[in-house]
Amino acid sequence: MQQRPDVIIVGAGFAGMYGLHRFRKQGLKVQVLEAGSDVGGTWYWNRYPGARCDVPSLEYSFGFSEELEQDWDWPEVFSAQPDILRYANHIADRFDLRGDIQFDTRVTAVTYVDEQNLWRLTTEAGEVFEARYCVMATGCLSVPNKPKLPGGESFAGLELHTGLWPKETVDLAGKRVGVIGTGSSGVQAIPELAKQAAELYVFQRSPVYTVPANRKLMRDSVQQSFKDSYRKIRDMQQHNAGGVSNFRPSDGVKQTTPTTAYRPDRNNIMALTPEQRRQRIASRGLNELLNFRDVYTDPVANEIANELFREGVRYLVHDPDTAAALSPTDYGLGCKRQVLDRDYYDTFNRDNVTLVDLQATPLESVTATGIQTSAQEYELDVLIYATGFDAMTGALLKANIRGREGQTLNDKWRYGPVAYLGLQMQGFPNLFTVTGPGSPSVLCNMLVAIEQHIDWIGDCITFLKQNDIETIEPTQQAESDWIAHVNDVAEGTMYTTPSCNSWYLGANIPGKPRIFMPYVGGYPRYRERCEAVVENGYEGFTLSAQTQETVA
Ligand code: NAP
Repeated sequence: MQQRPDVIIVGAGFAGMYGLHRFRKQGLKVQVLEAGSDVGGTWYWNRYPGARCDVPSLEYSFGFSEELEQDWDWPEVFSAQPDILRYANHIADRFDLRGDIQFDTRVTAVTYVDEQNLWRLTTEAGEVFEARYCVMATGCLSVPNKPKLPGGESFAGLELHTGLWPKETVDLAGKRVGVIGTGSSGVQAIPELAKQAAELYVFQRSPVYTVPANRKLMRDSVQQSFKDSYRKIRDMQQHNAGGVSNFRPSDGVKQTTPTTAYRPDRNNIMALTPEQRRQRIASRGLNELLNFRDVYTDPVANEIANELFREGVRYLVHDPDTAAALSPTDYGLGCKRQVLDRDYYDTFNRDNVTLVDLQATPLESVTATGIQTSAQEYELDVLIYATGFDAMTGALLKANIRGREGQTLNDKWRYGPVAYLGLQMQGFPNLFTVTGPGSPSVLCNMLVAIEQHIDWIGDCITFLKQNDIETIEPTQQAESDWIAHVNDVAEGTMYTTPSCNSWYLGANIPGKPRIFMPYVGGYPRYRERCEAVVENGYEGFTLSAQTQETVA
């Protein structure tokens, strides 16, 4: 048994790292447990070729340290995985975090000990850690989904998952490579894999709506404008639905890549004539379709945009059959997380790339030598799963969490995640989730969402300690009212239309309850609600006073 910390944090991605720094600064003893061998979370595991962030790096960065903001330089507007991992490592070194992080430590059970009001965490190696507070900083997209395909274990070649990519260089030269999956990860990886492999087979179940990413190198003047204006930018982030300032540097350089963030200048596609719509796309590209407000709420507007998108794919992809197969028809723009690419469609014009449409010729089995579809067998040396994650709830449910009186989180969440503000669950006192279901999380600039949650949790712990409060947990009423609100605001958006099957809804995992998990009401509204809850004396939470026996 180790010396008891005040707080145990599970995970040393950006959330765990900032949690460690923030809680330590407020005088708490903190222990972080991390399954990987180093810091970085998502950016540690997702090392596949082409991996990069789709939020501008000057915004996808921490605002808690002005010195860090000023010292760090980003080489590209939207950084690649190695640069983001370098940033994570810099933070670990700069704030001397590694000493309180135990790496290569997978937590296998998180159990509330009723008699002592503390959390006991057990690791795969059998170590036991205990603390009054437990913070699950386990990430929203951290449990890779490897679908159970017939013959799935029989492939004799090299098998990889984009979300668990090896540190060592994977040499694909001269190889026949197959990729299953065309979400964000697949779309980023496919153009890079095509350049390396002898033959690339893309096994597509659903075509994707993807638009070109901004691929600008960082200009010194842009970086300096941000550094000069960071306080204003951080404030703008706090008032933007997606936690992105959309700050335009004073020299007029524009960021043209759309984000899912709220754009006040969005207009309606229905207000334009067919000719005007085409002119807009001709001059501004397919990205323009994402800037129309009504595309996200009006099914008629949505279908107009979808058809214009398909027109664009027919223009970009030379082979008409391939273009047709690459064009989504059974769901609309705005249902899934927007995908951004670099040369995705052009990749299908290469001689060494074959699109295998699994809707036309379903995958029958994985064999020792490749993939068998209803039409033929594709012989492969390497099989890559770009099949996504058990998102938002996966890591929490996998951690085997047991709360008060032995209640399991898996049981509590059997019909879908139930939590108050995505921060806490009734029956699980003093356990906090960072960017949990019911918070803006994946719909927000993740670093902004993380800072807000960690600050809220840190302030909450200070409040508990200062007021001799033993435990905090939400009331059942507050929890169910919040979930009802989360569902209400998602209603009527493209996210929840019956034709939409996204990981936001858990639809990518067979048997997972279909619930829209993130909070779509916008980051500022959410943040204000969190602040109001505190101002009103932790409204919706039950606070239990410290008893003599349990005073440590
Ligand atoms: P994803 O969006 O869930 O895509 C998974 C892909 O695998 C889909 O094309 C899916 O097809 C396919 N698939 C799953 N099971 C299959 C099966 N049994 N047979 C055939 N195909 C199957 O996962 P992801 O691409 O890893 O992206 C997940 C999220 O991570 C993104 O939405 C984003 O939030 C984040 N991410 C971000 C970036 C970035 O910043 N640019 C990059 C990568 C990931 P269906 O659509 O038919 O289910």
